[in-house]
Amino acid sequence: MKVQVLLPKIFNFPFTYNSDHKKNYKRGDVVEIPFGSKKEIGVIWNNVNSVSKNIRIKSINRRIGDFSINQNLIDFIEWFSMYNMVPRGLVLKMCIGNGQNIFKEKDKIEKLKKIKVTQYALNKEQKNSLKYLENIKGKFNVSVLQGATGSGKTLVYFERIKKIIKENKQALVLLPEIFLTNQFQSRFEEFFGFSPAVWHSRITPKNKRIILKGIVQNKIKLIIGARSSLMLPFKKLGIIIVDEEHDASYKQDEGVIYNARDMAISRASFENIPIDLVSSIPSVETYNNIKNKKYRHIKIFKRYNNFPLPKTKIINLNVDKIKDQYVAYETIKEVKNFLKKNEQVLFFINRRGFAPFLICKNCGYKHSCSECSLYLTFHKSKNKAVCHHCGLEKSIKKSCKNKKSDCDFIMYGPGVEKIFEETKKAFPDKRISIFSSDFMKKKNETQSLFKKINDNKVDILIGTQMISKGFNFPNLNCIVVIDADFSGRGYDLRATEKNIQLYHQLSGRAGRFSSNSLIIYQTLSPENETLNNLIRNNPEQFLENELILRKKNNLPPFTRLVALIISSNSKNLSFRGAQEFKTKINSIHGLEVMGPVDSPILRIKKKFRCRLLIRFSNSQLFQKKIANLLDNLKISSKIKLTVDVDPINFT
Ligand SMILES: [Zn+2]
Ligand SMILES: [Zn+2]
Repeated sequence: MKVQVLLPKIFNFPFTYNSDHKKNYKRGDVVEIPFGSKKEIGVIWNNVNSVSKNIRIKSINRRIGDFSINQNLIDFIEWFSMYNMVPRGLVLKMCIGNGQNIFKEKDKIEKLKKIKVTQYALNKEQKNSLKYLENIKGKFNVSVLQGATGSGKTLVYFERIKKIIKENKQALVLLPEIFLTNQFQSRFEEFFGFSPAVWHSRITPKNKRIILKGIVQNKIKLIIGARSSLMLPFKKLGIIIVDEEHDASYKQDEGVIYNARDMAISRASFENIPIDLVSSIPSVETYNNIKNKKYRHIKIFKRYNNFPLPKTKIINLNVDKIKDQYVAYETIKEVKNFLKKNEQVLFFINRRGFAPFLICKNCGYKHSCSECSLYLTFHKSKNKAVCHHCGLEKSIKKSCKNKKSDCDFIMYGPGVEKIFEETKKAFPDKRISIFSSDFMKKKNETQSLFKKINDNKVDILIGTQMISKGFNFPNLNCIVVIDADFSGRGYDLRATEKNIQLYHQLSGRAGRFSSNSLIIYQTLSPENETLNNLIRNNPEQFLENELILRKKNNLPPFTRLVALIISSNSKNLSFRGAQEFKTKINSIHGLEVMGPVDSPILRIKKKFRCRLLIRFSNSQLFQKKIANLLDNLKISSKIKLTVDVDPINFT
């Protein structure tokens, strides 16, 4: 008998092999095969009826343990590959990895350590939410669980998972990678009494093998993982939870480009199981699906401990700004009240480094990246100019272009380091720490800072976006947003949405155990409607407005977009390539091709980039047609094509 075997490699199509009928291989079995001069692993994909007689067909070597993937996953891989325009083999690789050392006999799944369970009681709202979510059992459906930070959404889905596991099924909790903290993990442990298996890009190969084995054998019941975990070959998946469903990092922008939240929904549909999306403010797309009754929806209104949400205050920087400083007088005054009571204050600025921009007064020199078309950010702690896109570091230029004088730089805009300096000046006797990826390269640095904050050994914390995610600081009662900006500049469809999510999440960090907490928004546009809706705790109004705007501009979720990014060492070549693609794609009836245009960031890592944007009705899938067309084109080896289905970022 002949079968087709798909390899977890770049190929879009399976290869034909002889299968010994006595071995009784089935569709989905993971097998070892000879491939060229090597041995590889692959998955039996289809039976083959006829094969051209001239080809010498090799035989399958053996089956790997009892490893196989089920029909649901095979169907899902086919769909994923079609939808995202990614070769089937690469999708398979996301599911089973590519190592030949998959399933080493000596890898043992460790016996679960028993951990003392802490009992939590659900309040009335939580109980109602749980009941609502459980109301539809077994079958595929999408439910949204909404509730502010601190409302106890996590406990609700923990309870839900507990029951699913009792039915001998598996549960998957997806989280943005940055949330996968020890703090979060210990909450799991305290609730379930065992450690969950954690899956993300940085776990060791051995750990990956062990988890894979446990999942295939249904010995591991609970996975918490970053986006890639949605591809794992579960034996008997019973539920998927997508926590922080609105988080932009669910969109993978490099390598295989896909949206993990959307793909999780498809996976649940192929498995015919429920999926719960959890959020404090749903994304625009999810909100639209709630409105259209495609998704079920339940909201928790109160905070778990019943403490009120923080009060808010807008400080107008046009009036109150001190020269060359970014912390206003009024802010300093307010902050003092909290510090006096020994309570903690967080200054939030979403910019690493000291200043995003520095320019020489004498010769006008600006540091820019030699690989990307971007200016460099000044990092005082390193005394270097750093590219936040590719990581390139440059020494600060000493002498002017004409060599007659020394450079004298002025800095524009604040970064964490600048705010650190200002707060040091304003509160010299307070203990101040920076929370930013540049200062927390190592895991134990983060851990020890957390401990210091928890033990109240830090008074003021200066943090970037990292801080808004899943951390719990009991004594934090005042938050200052240095630069609340809703102008929606930039090339990100979701810029404003992201800011709303961010500030909303941030405000949930304050006053979790206090009835007197405050969040200060320093801003240059105090009248901004979005900001004022946020303050009135009415983010739904923003979502409504945003939907109207998207509809008017023919943007998703009312249409579907596919971006093609064409890059090359030569600007000319990438542009010409793009034009060629456009002509071809235009031959497909029913879609619209915009561009080519230069990417807003024209050059990244030495490559010139040019973009096409394809738009079509959201009720249609043109991916297959576009992919067929691209497959048949001879693309010059000098240009590289990247396909981004449902793009969010337009840089
Ligand atoms: Zn760069
Ligand atoms: Zn100069």
